[in-house]
Amino acid sequence: SLNTDWVLNWVRASAAVIAENRVELIRLDREIGDGDHGENMDRGFSAVLPKLDDLADDALPADVLKLVATTLISTVGGASGPLYGTAYLKAAGAVADLGELDGAAVTGLLRAARDGIVLRGKAETGDKTMIDAWSPAVDAADAALAGGSSPAQILQAAADAAAAGAEATEPLVARKGRASYLGERAIGHRDPGAQSTSLLLRAAADVAG
Ligand code: ADP
Ligand code: MG
Ligand code: MG
Repeated sequence: SLNTDWVLNWVRASAAVIAENRVELIRLDREIGDGDHGENMDRGFSAVLPKLDDLADDALPADVLKLVATTLISTVGGASGPLYGTAYLKAAGAVADLGELDGAAVTGLLRAARDGIVLRGKAETGDKTMIDAWSPAVDAADAALAGGSSPAQILQAAADAAAAGAEATEPLVARKGRASYLGERAIGHRDPGAQSTSLLLRAAADVAG
């Protein structure tokens, strides 16, 4: 099963992959938004890293997720800050006082994160938002859990589905967020938030071993 060290490694890997893809996320957001998504996300995850040192030695997975949530809410800004903040907050609630996360807990964490984003942003699948990466990831996690997969395999399945979901935003017209102002001009461009979600879920899988 996965524990606090997995969450800590996920956060560190997230910060690294967001920093590596900062320019790419900016490029995607320049095509159909205001060009700040890479900067917003890099600012947020860079701010989380030093705070990890302040966590108690016996911190639970939920404590780390809550720290990520509050930091993203206060530093990322834009549309994505409150959305990702809510995602991590609801993810923390889903694993509550668990020290060890089995497949059901990991799947529940992902579902709670997705549901939090939907509650806050009201996007549906196909609206060309980060939900187009999150929802297939949750469905894939569910299927992997039902098939008896390990937590690491569940996260791999979720990451693969998120990557496909992010790619599948390219032909879509946006119905939420800044890109919705563009109408058909959004066609042919990948949604930046769906791409960052894909990166974050890949990081989660990579550090699960
Ligand atoms: P802003 O658009 O305010 O500059 P960002 O560039 O950081 O914020 O984030 C843009 C991303 O936020 C979009 O690519 C999209 O994935 C996501 N997004 C915007 N509105 C919504 C919404 N209502 N529901 C889900 N995701 C959304
Ligand atoms: Mg933007
Ligand atoms: Mg902005």
